[in-house]
Amino acid sequence: KRAPLVVANWKLNGGTDLICTSVASFLNQSFKAEIGIAPPYVYISDMVSFLRNSKIMVGSQNVSKFASGAFTGETSAQMLKEVGADFCLIGHSERRQMFLENDASCHTKIERALAAGVMPILCVGENNQQHELGLTHDILYRQLHQALPGLELSGKRLCVAYEPIWAIGTGKAATAEQVQEVHEYIHQELIAILGTEAADSVQILYGGSVKKDNAAELLAKPHVDGLLVGGASLDPEHFAQICAIA
Ligand code: 13P
Repeated sequence: KRAPLVVANWKLNGGTDLICTSVASFLNQSFKAEIGIAPPYVYISDMVSFLRNSKIMVGSQNVSKFASGAFTGETSAQMLKEVGADFCLIGHSERRQMFLENDASCHTKIERALAAGVMPILCVGENNQQHELGLTHDILYRQLHQALPGLELSGKRLCVAYEPIWAIGTGKAATAEQVQEVHEYIHQELIAILGTEAADSVQILYGGSVKKDNAAELLAKPHVDGLLVGGASLDPEHFAQICAIA
């Protein structure tokens, strides 16, 4: 298994103080895992320059589906690349639920990110009702088959993050067994969409109430290639502990 990827999603949190404490706690440690941090857009440049001499990646939580033009408030993949972002989250459930993003816009955003040389991390996952009705595979099937076909992936890196909505910010993480089962399904659908070789290179991360207490068990599963951490990443010490476990 390649080194796991552990990504912090700060959401609408953090500021100069958190950047300084995070950077300080990361610069004097070395980790086997690959690490990424996604602060709000306005802090990306600072983060990139503070972490210039480290291997820690910096990314965004979103990207525009447009390249340029009269789209007030948007940030393009090319701009992210220019300021040094390595990756961007795409289709996080909070964006789908509150900002009307859909599978089609995810597809366009992934294309933009790939073309700009920013690694896309596509977020997928079912809500509580869908989970209880046993519709998880159906929801993921739709999300993957609408967002991923027809991409030009040769030599490019793509990740998928499975984030069941019922596990986000609830303290009720999916069990390692549940995550393994779903990740296996995602991998199988990635093979159907992208072909075996490309699918095998896609890292599948889990997100939803990841803490230092459940990180090891999750990462021990064969199809869990990394973690996407929300709340716990806002405490630099806690996040560093998760990274050290990975
Ligand atoms: P929590 O870790 O706070 O549950 O958030 C998960 C998430 O949404 C990361 O993108």
